[in-house]
Amino acid sequence: MKEGIQLPTIVVVGDQSSGKSSVLESLAGINLPRGQGICTRVPLVMRLQHHPSLTSELFLEFNGKIVHTDEARVADAINVATDEIAGDGGHIKHSINSGCEKKGVPDLTMIDLPGITRVPVHGQPADIYEQIAGIIMEYIRPEESIILNVLSATVDFPTCESIRMSQQVDKTGERTLAVVTKSDKAPEGLLEKVTADDVNIGLGYVCVRNRIGDESYEDAREEEAKLFRNHPLLSRIGKSMVGIPVLAQKLTQIQATIIARCLPDIVRKINEKLNASISELNRMPKTLSSPAEVMTAFMGIVGSAKESLRKILIRGEFDEYLDDHHMHCTARFVEMLNRYSTELHNCPESDPRRNFLMEEINVLEESIGIELPNPSSHCLPEYSAEKS
Ligand code: GDP
Ligand code: MG
Repeated sequence: MKEGIQLPTIVVVGDQSSGKSSVLESLAGINLPRGQGICTRVPLVMRLQHHPSLTSELFLEFNGKIVHTDEARVADAINVATDEIAGDGGHIKHSINSGCEKKGVPDLTMIDLPGITRVPVHGQPADIYEQIAGIIMEYIRPEESIILNVLSATVDFPTCESIRMSQQVDKTGERTLAVVTKSDKAPEGLLEKVTADDVNIGLGYVCVRNRIGDESYEDAREEEAKLFRNHPLLSRIGKSMVGIPVLAQKLTQIQATIIARCLPDIVRKINEKLNASISELNRMPKTLSSPAEVMTAFMGIVGSAKESLRKILIRGEFDEYLDDHHMHCTARFVEMLNRYSTELHNCPESDPRRNFLMEEINVLEESIGIELPNPSSHCLPEYSAEKS
């Protein structure tokens, strides 16, 4: 992916508090940061993998490090990681990767995205909508992405921001699947809503009931099954459209289909990149056998290093090091000077109570008035601006 090859992924989108994190929790059977208000501020890539052993393995990967954790602490660990990479209030497009190997989870890789909000609340920046919409668009635009649109049964689907956004990139809905959460809260008319399909969901709807409060995941699944079996209205919805197990099965199937569809193209792109790298390698000087060849190669290296330094230091062009701020010397010059000035003021020698260089200053002051005979300005070396 770092080489710019898109891999198929399932991207979870939805309005604020529609239940995105809850759906992921239900699929993984682990606690994620969840609740009213802003929880998910950083994309969270979750790789679930079934593992026969009874103890689960969980880790987070962010900012170039790997943190091992467990089911009891994973929600806190995600919050800590979020604060670390996005600060206190911001939203960021760099993701946290998480892996979860656990008995019975579906083999799925999904991305939880921040929820869409229109109105900034406590301390959020004024352009919060644009920030989040930008992140979401970046993840759902690639043709390889499957959009898992999380809709709360309590709202009118056509008014959902997440529907509006997914329709922008997937008009016919052929790569959009809808999960309807909170079925328990608004059972009236739900069957009609999912069968009318006013909003073009190509891959269909799955209605679920997530864990409520402190329920265990096992209890939650049992309550969900009971709800869709016994409720007078909800029991009329087709069995292939209800429950987390159905959702897990559909997603695994969809994932297999897109991987199969995209694989030939991915292999082709990898081969193209590989061929480009091989021909670049072939253009490089081969073995160097004589001192003259070594010298030529060495001068070539020195030459390109010199050209790099010219670009960075003189012309202020950073295209070779776009993301490496340490290389943006000229642009950071004022910053560096300010830091230098602060350091200078804070160093012990700047303490006025100390007699640093006082002797030397005294000698200089005593010598004022004693002048060399006939001092003329052109004896001094001339400094042009460039030399200085
Ligand atoms: P997100 O902002 O989209 O990630 O939403 P969350 O997963 O944090 O859920 C928001 C709130 O809705 C939480 O308080 C959840 O407990 C609640 N919730 C989510 N799914 C359901 C559901 O199926 N039934 C009920 N009753 N509450 C739910
Ligand atoms: Mg969330």
